[in-house]
Amino acid sequence: MFKKHIPWAEPYKIKVVEPLKMTSREDRLKAIHEAGYNTFLLRSEDVYIDFLTDSGTNAMSDAQWAGMMMGDEAYAGSKNFYRLEAAVQKYYGYKHLVPTHQGRGAENLLSQAMIKPGDYVPGNMYFTTTRFHQEKAGATFIDVIIDEAHDTASLHPFKGNIDLQKYEDLINRVGADKIPYICVAATVNMAGGQPISMENIRAVKELSDKHGIKVMLDATRAVENAYFIQQREDGYSDKSVAAILLELSGYSDGATMSGKKDLLVNIGGFVAVNDWDLFEELRNMVVVYEGLHTYGGLAGRDMEAMAIGLEEAVQDQNISARVRQVEYFGKLLEKAEVPFIKPVGGHAIFLDAKQFYPHIDQEQFPAQVLAADLYVESGVRAMERGIVSAGRDIVTGKNHKPKLELVRLTIPRRVYTQAHFDVVAYYVEELYKKRHEAKGLKMVYEPKYLRFFQARFERL
Ligand SMILES: *Cc1c(COP(=O)(O)O)cnc(C)c1O
Repeated sequence: MFKKHIPWAEPYKIKVVEPLKMTSREDRLKAIHEAGYNTFLLRSEDVYIDFLTDSGTNAMSDAQWAGMMMGDEAYAGSKNFYRLEAAVQKYYGYKHLVPTHQGRGAENLLSQAMIKPGDYVPGNMYFTTTRFHQEKAGATFIDVIIDEAHDTASLHPFKGNIDLQKYEDLINRVGADKIPYICVAATVNMAGGQPISMENIRAVKELSDKHGIKVMLDATRAVENAYFIQQREDGYSDKSVAAILLELSGYSDGATMSGKKDLLVNIGGFVAVNDWDLFEELRNMVVVYEGLHTYGGLAGRDMEAMAIGLEEAVQDQNISARVRQVEYFGKLLEKAEVPFIKPVGGHAIFLDAKQFYPHIDQEQFPAQVLAADLYVESGVRAMERGIVSAGRDIVTGKNHKPKLELVRLTIPRRVYTQAHFDVVAYYVEELYKKRHEAKGLKMVYEPKYLRFFQARFERL
């Protein structure tokens, strides 16, 4: 499809610009101190280049903005709902759609509808909100991702794959009737945006069918996953991303979705399933938690923008440019010999904070330190993905101690140009040169849930 030696460029041009604000080092030292060394608590105004997240930070197209004017804001039966339903059926193939305000709204509904206390939910590494809702509904989450996913040096092309042996061992240990579904993420955000292969999800589906276990896709980044399959898996190089996506989701019984990622919008999500009874249950619950089943907490215009975003997202040249921006950034960091996770994933670069700051103990939050230091150095905002994000065990109250201690630099879709990546790579390299000066942090305020969002720290 895309020949490696031919230069590529973003398949869009800029029509509206938003000025960026530069700040001084003194300003930034003050700002990060006031933010308790947590980049989530910085004011966006004080940030120069914002790589905090690619969630809801996408640039919408002129077609999407025009679609916003076509919002049918009726309380019930909005035409934008039917448009979105048709787009989801066309590109993911699921029969029934329940819109939600964003991904975690969908996770809440699905977890409550499917999980009984005492159940087990296997998954390929966890995602923060996904695991939270599974555990809150009474399940024990079991990580069944392949070991390579935890190895920052492994170059496995499908590091998101499920280890079928681990999955089967769990079935044998607890019994299939204790496993309502397996949660398959594509791509795996927490492993560095790493994809699963078609071969793997096909095998997962087969094994699950044999035991009567449902397969639920976290489809948030499945378009990116489909692109990696096209690029890396035998037999897919001449298929379109849209065709691959449809095949991929076809090996699942339903999906939760955060439209704020792949679907190029600022807000929105859904849960979609094939089973009518499950749909009935979800449709019933959405009224309590989000809104009527034909808007699910969204305005009509939001559903319209998401339907158009889906059509744009699956175009080969769009998704190719998205991932190639991330690759470009990775190549710059590779040249600078900075430690980060390889192969480069679909949405972000993950700096390896354990290697960056080997002298800082994991209990002193090396990734939290690195994200704070990068902000002070450059005004670039990133986020921690390590011991703070992993939180505490819901039963024992002990810190989860993840093998990976990472800082995520996440690339919003269609927002930045190559020159921005040159600047960020320069500052990361500068920071790496003086890495020995870095000092650890201590946590001085810890919220009860999803602590990484609001925790506060002080310098040791
Ligand atoms: C963002 C994300 C979610 C949660 O979606 P929200 O829209 O932020 O609630 C779930 N899974 C994955 C893989 C995500 O990246």
